[in-house]
Amino acid sequence: MIDYRTASDLVQKNILSPRIEDVSIDAALGRVLTQDVIADRDYPPFHRSSMDGYAVNFAEIPESRPFQLLEQSVQYAGKAAGELNPHSCIKIMTGAPVPSGADTVIKIEDSQKTDDLVSFNPGKFFSGMNIALQGEDTRAGELLLPRGTIIGPIETGCLATCGLTSVKVAKPPAVSIIITGDELAMPGDAIESYNIRSSNYFVLLSFSRKTGIEPVMLFSKDTADELEKTIRSAIGSDIIILTGGVSKGDRDFVPEILEKLGFENIFHGVNIKPGKPFWFGRSRTTVVFGLPGNPFAVMTAWKLFVENFLLGSMGAKSANPIFLPIAQARTKKDKRNEFFPCRIETRDGISILREVRINGSGDIRAGLLTDGIGLHPAGAEILSSESRIEFHLW
Ligand code: AMP
Ligand code: MG
Repeated sequence: MIDYRTASDLVQKNILSPRIEDVSIDAALGRVLTQDVIADRDYPPFHRSSMDGYAVNFAEIPESRPFQLLEQSVQYAGKAAGELNPHSCIKIMTGAPVPSGADTVIKIEDSQKTDDLVSFNPGKFFSGMNIALQGEDTRAGELLLPRGTIIGPIETGCLATCGLTSVKVAKPPAVSIIITGDELAMPGDAIESYNIRSSNYFVLLSFSRKTGIEPVMLFSKDTADELEKTIRSAIGSDIIILTGGVSKGDRDFVPEILEKLGFENIFHGVNIKPGKPFWFGRSRTTVVFGLPGNPFAVMTAWKLFVENFLLGSMGAKSANPIFLPIAQARTKKDKRNEFFPCRIETRDGISILREVRINGSGDIRAGLLTDGIGLHPAGAEILSSESRIEFHLW
């Protein structure tokens, strides 16, 4: 059995090359950029007033006594910059281009107006005050978003700023998810006492959609024949994700059938809790994740392996874990790396992790009202309270 880091590395080594498509920027949320986004012009594109006030020539301002200037005109945003006359000021609005001949904006609160004359009290004025200079945020040609960036709300604004109407993003890989288990029923089905509702179906579907992937959902009973047929029907996918049937039970046919169909077994079994029976392999064209059946093991394996693989296959970097202190000490007997669900709480103004106890990896409450999974590392029997641990947000 291999350890967690080795397993992660092997999964990462098999990530697929992204395919590319164009999407309009209003449909780009959540997609992974496969192009760099470059500033198309200087920003700001012109010297811009950052206050409502008066544009003046700083050289005309006396150092310590009150002074008056003639209000020449008004400079609005969205209008071409005017030209400032000597001994004058131009009233200017936030966002308007600074008139030529002006180099300073005095804010409206520091002025009094009588007829056409504007009086200013000496203050701490300085040349360039309240003006954002052309190009001070970024220069035309500078890189704003590198390829591999996941487009969030803030990034969509940047695409618009750069004048893009569409953008190159990764095409989501074709994913088939196969739910296995004779005991499973879907919500709405008539059930017997021995049935279990297939929560994994929705967890895997929802996690997939969160990465922008719409998987094909398939089912198989625990017979070698049906499983083989179902896997064959999914072979055109880039990625097949199975749940259940990977352990040592008499009807756990997944590893056997995958190998029979020619998939290379890269590893079967990882030294983690939960999620130990995890199977990973591939053919020339299709990568396969054989996840355990237990719901909390499925969530954990998704978070540690599948999600990063899917993001990587769209050209995105893996999400980094964060490191937070735990509120209470924790001991473990198991030698494996153990992942446990936690909620982030605030104590004395500091974020801490509160472990949410679960009743094993089959507990249907596991993961509820939590923010992610913490790692109790293989080598440490005891985690003392306040110690910082690796934490993966859901
Ligand atoms: P298995 O790995 O197939 O032996 O399944 C292990 C446990 O996970 C069993 O108790 C199953 O009932 C449960 N399980 C398997 N698949 C699902 C599923 N799709 N939804 C909820 N529980 C499941
Ligand atoms: Mg099963």
